[in-house]
Amino acid sequence: MEQTFAIIKPDAVAKNQIGDILAVTEAAGFKIRAMQLTQMTRKQAEGFYAVHSARPFFGELVEFMCEGPCVLLCLEREDAVAKWRETMGATNPANAAEGTIRKRFAESMGRNCSHGSDSAENAAIELAYFFPGNILQ
Ligand code: UDP
Ligand code: MG
Repeated sequence: MEQTFAIIKPDAVAKNQIGDILAVTEAAGFKIRAMQLTQMTRKQAEGFYAVHSARPFFGELVEFMCEGPCVLLCLEREDAVAKWRETMGATNPANAAEGTIRKRFAESMGRNCSHGSDSAENAAIELAYFFPGNILQ
């Protein structure tokens, strides 16, 4: 079994899509091992997305991630990192496959309703960042 880190981003929480997205998540075979509704501070969002700090969209991305509550998740299943990326679909919902979370719920490239770690190594870093010592086994 593998774990990954996911976020239901503020756009989807504001549109009352938490339940719909969790239903897709569970139907795709993921077990929820940790879950928290929280509003990120600017500092938390900047730290989380530090890898993108030189990108032109960084300021907008940090603003967006802090604009309202989001849901932080530890998800577990076989091959969780790759399967969650597949279940979410492409970063830009216009390019996301039919039936994926981003295709169904995202508004745009920036406001794209969900996050997923891009490697097992980054999943461990991101889980430790938001759920220090707080994940069910
Ligand atoms: N993003 C954006 N514009 C871009 C690329 C990314 O606003 O041109 C945002 C988008 O919310 C994305 C996040 O920055 O989810 C992180 O980008 P990344 O390339 O890591 O995409 P992801 O891993 O989320 O698919
Ligand atoms: Mg990424």
